[in-house]
Amino acid sequence: MAITYELIHTCKQTGARYGKVHTPHGSFETPMFMPVGTLATVKTMSPEELERMGAPIILSNTYHLWLRPGEDIVKEAGGLHKFMNWDGSILTDSGGFQVFSLSDLRQIEEEGVHFRNHISGEKLFLSPEKAMRIQNDLGADIMMAFDECPPYPAEHKYMKDSVERTSRWAERCLEAHQRPQDQGLFGIIQGGEYEDLRRQSAQDLTSMDFPGYAVGGLSVGEPKDVMNRVLDFTTPLLPNDKPRYLMGVGSPDSLIDGSMRGIDMFDCVLPTRIARNGTCMTSNGRLVVRNAKFARDFRPIDENCDCHTCRNYSRAYIRHLVKANETFGFRLTTYHNLYFLLKLMGQVREAIKEDRLGDFRDEFFEQYGFNKPNAKNF
Ligand SMILES: [Zn+2]
Repeated sequence: MAITYELIHTCKQTGARYGKVHTPHGSFETPMFMPVGTLATVKTMSPEELERMGAPIILSNTYHLWLRPGEDIVKEAGGLHKFMNWDGSILTDSGGFQVFSLSDLRQIEEEGVHFRNHISGEKLFLSPEKAMRIQNDLGADIMMAFDECPPYPAEHKYMKDSVERTSRWAERCLEAHQRPQDQGLFGIIQGGEYEDLRRQSAQDLTSMDFPGYAVGGLSVGEPKDVMNRVLDFTTPLLPNDKPRYLMGVGSPDSLIDGSMRGIDMFDCVLPTRIARNGTCMTSNGRLVVRNAKFARDFRPIDENCDCHTCRNYSRAYIRHLVKANETFGFRLTTYHNLYFLLKLMGQVREAIKEDRLGDFRDEFFEQYGFNKPNAKNF
């Protein structure tokens, strides 16, 4: 089997899991955050920098690589690892989320989805079989089943039909997967905020015995307490001996809250996207480095951070670069934000091993400012 999971310790205080996921490109400890490299690059970071900051796995987007440069070119290069010179693990999504979030004029049928290319307007079609063929050509260690990710909120009736179709699509994905010996295919549990539908989706998918499971359809605009409540009743439905991946989640509070509910893997564009806007995550909350008050502030972004950016560059210098739209400024903020989340996950893993993740959450939330009224989500 391409992907296996080893559960090493369960936090006695919270039920969070410390474990390891083994892939054809190495093993990584969980819970883990995966930086997003949409177009076979984590924007502004070299693979060498990602390695240096301690990222063992990154995510890339099937939809985007299918359109540019085309999976045939990636395959010809020897697969995504060789194409982008990344020797760590890679996860590709199925393209489904982008089809549903980026494109207008989509039409869902049993066979698949018709939609328009968000760049050229050209008519395209994606199906479970096609999503598998493209992901087999890309050659990531972990691939995702093609699913429908309905918006929030969605009616129960709509969601039920969608969950049932997603289960049928998952079966077709398993059937179409050509490289199970070196690529692990994860199933995606849908069902929105409805407990009965999450249960149905989990039953359908776990009966197909995927090497890992994602909880999809969250972080699509629902309040945080809805996400936590859905995780509370969904993760217990998933097998203990397989990794669990919460898709599209990357704010520090949600990484901790998700880990507490038994999630092992996360991804999100948040740290890299806000970095390119000059916003940094720090141990004392978010810091908008563009602000005028940092013009003569020669301290690092985060005085408690030992990343390459914080060891060498000041707020004043980074503010100057970001204000002047200098690429190097965005590289420095991106490096720091990713390092911050990778380090946070390391702290989460240590707290799990020491059975004190609940205490860690309280301390972190207090210092970050999540407990303040009107606190931002990151
Ligand atoms: Zn730093």
